[in-house]
Amino acid sequence: MKKPNVVILGAGYGGLMTTVRLQELVGINEASITLVNKNDYHYETTWLHEASAGTLHHDRVRYPISDVIDRNKVKFVKDTVVKIVPDEKKVLMKNGELTYDYLVIALGFESETFGIKGLKEYAFSISNVNAARQIREHIEYQFATYNTEEEKRDERLTIVVGGAGFTGIEFLGELVNRVPELCREYDIDPHKVRIICVEAAPTALPGFDPELVEYAVNQLERKGVEFKIGTAIKECTPEGIIVAKGDDIEEIKAGTVVWAAGVRGSHVIDESGFEAMRGRIKVDPFLRVPGHEDIFVVGDCSLVINEETNRPYPPTAQIAMQEGELCAKNLAVLIRQQGELQPFRPDIKGTVCSLGEDDAIGVVFGKKIWGTKASFMKKMIDNRALYLIGGPSLVMKKGKFKFF
Ligand code: FAD
Repeated sequence: MKKPNVVILGAGYGGLMTTVRLQELVGINEASITLVNKNDYHYETTWLHEASAGTLHHDRVRYPISDVIDRNKVKFVKDTVVKIVPDEKKVLMKNGELTYDYLVIALGFESETFGIKGLKEYAFSISNVNAARQIREHIEYQFATYNTEEEKRDERLTIVVGGAGFTGIEFLGELVNRVPELCREYDIDPHKVRIICVEAAPTALPGFDPELVEYAVNQLERKGVEFKIGTAIKECTPEGIIVAKGDDIEEIKAGTVVWAAGVRGSHVIDESGFEAMRGRIKVDPFLRVPGHEDIFVVGDCSLVINEETNRPYPPTAQIAMQEGELCAKNLAVLIRQQGELQPFRPDIKGTVCSLGEDDAIGVVFGKKIWGTKASFMKKMIDNRALYLIGGPSLVMKKGKFKFF
């Protein structure tokens, strides 16, 4: 019998977890496994705010995919997926095409600008290693240029963060630690620097415990962040942003605008004609595309409804990894034609949001934590993600061990 061809698209949390678990579960003679990814490295998306602020070097957040896959069992293809043609069981890439018997879509997220004028053109987004590196270098360039110009333009030292959700707050936490270093490095008076966070919702970190939100906002304000809550970004221009609170319109001149207020699934989902909401496919209980039982979706391209709230689970690395584990098990069932497919039941252990190197807030196993305890927990979560994919050797190579 012909070995089934399993093709996995994307080597983020979801795709890489599917790959490493599947290579453990099935033998060389049972299936051909191909993993496709844009780059030959995996990056820890949940660390990108650190690389963007410059508090962690971008090489620390990535590692070669070859470090964690078994080359005897998995063929790696470095290419960019352009489109999936389900009727022909084909994947079209920039430099070739692949056919599959089973497909796993794990292409992750992209920035969603909700049609706000100018954001795509003039704002940065924390979306991958190169984007993070560009943000870090852009901010550094603004600081480096400030003192070399005859006519000082204070707006060079204004950084606007659009969105006080998880990503926005984590980025601000790093920025408030990085800015004093930049001021020392480039002989800049720290009072000249403005870090402004604009959030349209009536609170920062919507959905988080209010007491913890207050803690986070106070900590960040104490370190210099100005929050503009209940304020919407109307437009981004080469000079900065235009915001509105009720009828009040304000222009904020800024050298750097980082948009951290929206994500969507990969555009490849739309290109391929799947029914989706902002690039996210509502999967069946076994993580398959309805009507396409040979296609699984994991991570930020999948949409799973939380039956308790009747709302979609937010896209997280935690869910992407759990989906990857289950997807590998379900693929093994199909490959062996033995056993039964298992439905996806997320096991949400908690959420921890960092506020810089040594501070954080979170709810873990139902308990509220903050400060250094939460920060320690955050690093343990980061190390655990490495362990689950690459075992102790990856933790030793890339782990975070500076706890206090
Ligand atoms: P990704 O991890 O985004 O991986 C997608 C992969 O596909 C990448 O390797 C990419 O290069 C590749 N790819 C994309 N398009 C193509 C293409 N066309 N062709 C080939 N390859 C392609 N979640 C948490 O649970 N906890 C946190 O603390 C947390 N913090 C976060 C902090 C930040 C700054 C950000 C941005 C996100 C954070 N998240 C967090 C969310 C989490 O990172 C995502 O939910 C998670 O990365 C989704 O995993 P994924 O496998 O779907 O996609």
